Amino acid sequence: AAKHHGRNEFRQFDDELEDVIQRRQHIERDLRCAIDTGKIELWFQPVVRLDTSEIIGFEALLRWFHSSHGPIAPPEIIEIAREIGMMDALTDTVFRSCCDLMARLTEAGHGNCRVAMNVSPRELENGRLDDLILDGLERRGLPASMFEIEITEEAPVDGDRVDEQLARIAHAGISIALDDFGTGFSTLASLKDRRINKVKIDQGFVRGLAQSPDDQLLVKAVMDIGKGLGIEITAEGVEAEADRHLLQELGCRAAQGYLFSKAVPMDKALELLMKEHVGPR
Ligand code: C2E
Ligand code: MG
Ligand code: MG
Ligand code: MG
Repeated sequence: AAKHHGRNEFRQFDDELEDVIQRRQHIERDLRCAIDTGKIELWFQPVVRLDTSEIIGFEALLRWFHSSHGPIAPPEIIEIAREIGMMDALTDTVFRSCCDLMARLTEAGHGNCRVAMNVSPRELENGRLDDLILDGLERRGLPASMFEIEITEEAPVDGDRVDEQLARIAHAGISIALDDFGTGFSTLASLKDRRINKVKIDQGFVRGLAQSPDDQLLVKAVMDIGKGLGIEITAEGVEAEADRHLLQELGCRAAQGYLFSKAVPMDKALELLMKEHVGPR
């Protein structure tokens, strides 16, 4: 009986593995077309002032709903786009969408709102992002001060070409934020990099902050360092009022999280701006 059971389990494992492989094949097959036909969307999560809950910016986040496999997480979209040689096209899509929002914000009299685009270090290594951004902003008549790039140090970033690009982007007046700070390869040393003018504290330290004295200590330390170096700090993943309150007490001025709003489509983002604030205050 034990043997029989074992074989069934093996077959079940086999079936599950086959599902995983099939799903992956479907996604690989459909992603190219989804990018080409504009089915990949960018949604925007508000960044708010902690004291008033006013919207001061938006972060662009990839959204793709696959007709048979449902929502696909952004990191998987990116991984597959790279695999099938569509990363440049995807980056174009993301940047274009950010520009569309900036243009609409300007028209609506919200030119002081900032739009942030996530950039992975590998895109910088490929070496055409600075041209894409600087030429694009100029062509559309958008001020560099409205734009921000968020870099995740998921791998050590190195190389002259990366440095050169970051320098050009920063010199143009575009804000550079270090994303997911406190995880991966983001180190204290990266804060000495004068081109970085913002740090986003990873949600891992923020969620449940009120219940975690250790996290409070770490967040406070980051706030102090930021103050000393003249780096702005944004807290990610604020879900609870108690955490919002504590962050404010620790001197944090900007935040993002479900307490205020999830990412929403562009039209909805503009609607949210018409309100005085999102979430509690
Ligand atoms: P990230 O840049 O750190 O983005 C924040 C993630 O946390 C988003 O997940 C967002 O939906 C989620 N989030 C925001 N507030 C809360 C909250 O209060 N609670 C919780 N539990 N989660 C919250 P998402 O959209 O799944 O994105 C995951 C990651 O994928 C991003 O992390 C970013 O690294 C990457 N990504 C997304 N869009 C792009 C893109 O256009 N380009 C690149 N290169 N990477 C992207
Ligand atoms: Mg980000
Ligand atoms: Mg982050
Ligand atoms: Mg992240």
